[in-house]
Amino acid sequence: MDPLTAFLIVALMMLLNGGVLGLMHGDLSRDVQPSAISWRIGTLLQAGGCILLAVQAYLPPLFVLPLANGLVLLGVAGCWRAVRQFYGHDESIVVLLPSLCGIAGIAWFTGVQPDLTARIVVATVAWTAMLFAAAWTVLRAIRGERARSARVLAGIFGLLAVFMLLRGVYFVITPGVASSIVDTRSWMNVLTPMLASVLPVIGTTGFLLLCSDRMRRRWEQAASTDDLTGLANRRTLAAAGAQRLQQARLEGAVLAVAIVDIDHFKTVNDRFGHEAGDLALQHVAARLQSACGRHHLLARQGGEEFVAVLAVDGGEAVATVAERLRSAVRAAPFRHGETVLTLTVSIGVAVLGAQERHLDDLLRRADTALYAAKHGGRDRVVLAEPGG
Ligand code: GH3
Ligand code: MG
Ligand code: MG
Repeated sequence: MDPLTAFLIVALMMLLNGGVLGLMHGDLSRDVQPSAISWRIGTLLQAGGCILLAVQAYLPPLFVLPLANGLVLLGVAGCWRAVRQFYGHDESIVVLLPSLCGIAGIAWFTGVQPDLTARIVVATVAWTAMLFAAAWTVLRAIRGERARSARVLAGIFGLLAVFMLLRGVYFVITPGVASSIVDTRSWMNVLTPMLASVLPVIGTTGFLLLCSDRMRRRWEQAASTDDLTGLANRRTLAAAGAQRLQQARLEGAVLAVAIVDIDHFKTVNDRFGHEAGDLALQHVAARLQSACGRHHLLARQGGEEFVAVLAVDGGEAVATVAERLRSAVRAAPFRHGETVLTLTVSIGVAVLGAQERHLDDLLRRADTALYAAKHGGRDRVVLAEPGG
């Protein structure tokens, strides 16, 4: 295949990819849409640049070479901008700098001092700088995470940067091997359009995987957490609680559940309104979470009721942990405007009995203890009778 045909074919593939990305736009979640638009613009600019490179013989070089190379470079900048937007970076002029310098350099080495090797060097430097920067943007954002799709995309950026660099080196060490990048005498010229297509074609697949991965995580997060407090929700409590119960059985460890209910919470809503009530719930949730630490599981069971699944060292310590939860809420008053309100909680605690198999049995006993705490005057911890 000659380079001209190769350039036209890859340009067509890029256009199709840009079109597919456009068709899928509405299916992407709002938070990734701006970055998908940048990626699509990047793809279409690269396609436009490739078409101009293919037909360069029919147009004045001083016009077509800076424009064609400029479009391709700006297209790569579009992909870099897309990953920056994806990871929440602010807009920066730095994204445009390599392309602008590249366009100026190519214009110089076309009109003032015509030199193909110099043009290739300029384009290579701009390409590789942007590709390495894009790979770095992705890798820095996912540091420590598994995020396979992000690693694949960073790999595509990195590998392409290396290939573009090697291509540049090849042209520098073999000057005169071709008179233009569509000259059929150099095998490298057939490879060039292939390399140029990697980002808009294979990279687009990686980018879409990145978007769908983020959307999947968001849905999982939304399905497993309570959106007011950010704590685990009832569904997560059932699944994670059962798992912890199994583990405690296997390890012979002590497991307990504490049901924490805010005292007279209805009066907070009645006096200050539902919105203030919501803020008070968030405040209590945060206090309980910091008292629980990472070791114990805390969930919002519903309304103004929370459940902590406690994995502790002995019967004595269960009461200590529950007492810590109670005093954590009492010690930090809720502030709303001028109002400073000391909230209290009542806690019913049940320790897993030797014969108990289900979390629901434990929760039932803890609920009875909670009832006793309320009747005993509130703002206290009551331990349930031992289970069977
Ligand atoms: P007790 O000490 O006996 O627990 O009294 P209480 O007022 O806390 O209990 P009650 O069950 O009578 O009232 C619970 C209140 O919690 C009623 C309901 O409006 C409020 N509530 C439940 N969920 C939410 C919520 O998501 N936001 C707000 N603001 N209020 C809530
Ligand atoms: Mg209550
Ligand atoms: Mg209640």
